Amino acid sequence: MARYTGPVCRLCRAAGQKLHLKGDRCFGTKCAFEKRKGTRPGMHGAAQKKVTEYGVQLREKQKVKNIYGVLENKFYRYYEEAMRSEGVTGEMILQFLERRLDNVVFRLGLAKTRTQARQLIKHGHFDVNGKRVDIPSYRITPGDLVSVKEGSRDLSLIKLNSETAKSTTWLEFTKESLMGKVVMLPERSSIELEINEQLIVEFYSK
Ligand code: SF4
Repeated sequence: MARYTGPVCRLCRAAGQKLHLKGDRCFGTKCAFEKRKGTRPGMHGAAQKKVTEYGVQLREKQKVKNIYGVLENKFYRYYEEAMRSEGVTGEMILQFLERRLDNVVFRLGLAKTRTQARQLIKHGHFDVNGKRVDIPSYRITPGDLVSVKEGSRDLSLIKLNSETAKSTTWLEFTKESLMGKVVMLPERSSIELEINEQLIVEFYSK
């Protein structure tokens, strides 16, 4: 599966906002966004530029794409699917992204970042409803059980992450079995992201 492999801190600086793509580092003094005082990347990054309406919409779309680590083609397919679905298009895009297995593993706290979650999933460390699933974009539904594979529980990274793993409004975590149950679909109010998804819809509707 193709993915962005460039410097991730640059993505925060381009977005003009912390996207928290590096786990604990994002909350420390080593955060590049903080160190560079939020300036944009590139030679003229410090210059104040007027951003057009199109630029604002594009930036919002890029921001969400980079937070979830999804490439353009896949992201556009989520938009098309959201357009065909019942419900508010922008919110449906976010819901599809939240329902990805890599995001669920991250939300449960079994991985520090979505990138780490993707890697753990691809290496076969997770089961869904008792069966191995190694596809990070796999879409979960209410009632699904996401668990660490039996043979992977002693992995030092999983052990470390599971110490701080937790339930959310729509995921119920059981520490003893290292298992998360999807109790409901995520609602917009439970997706704590500083984004305006309506701008993404406007961007693609042009
Ligand atoms: Fe963004 Fe700072 Fe985290 Fe880098 S360390 S990904 S700049 S929030």
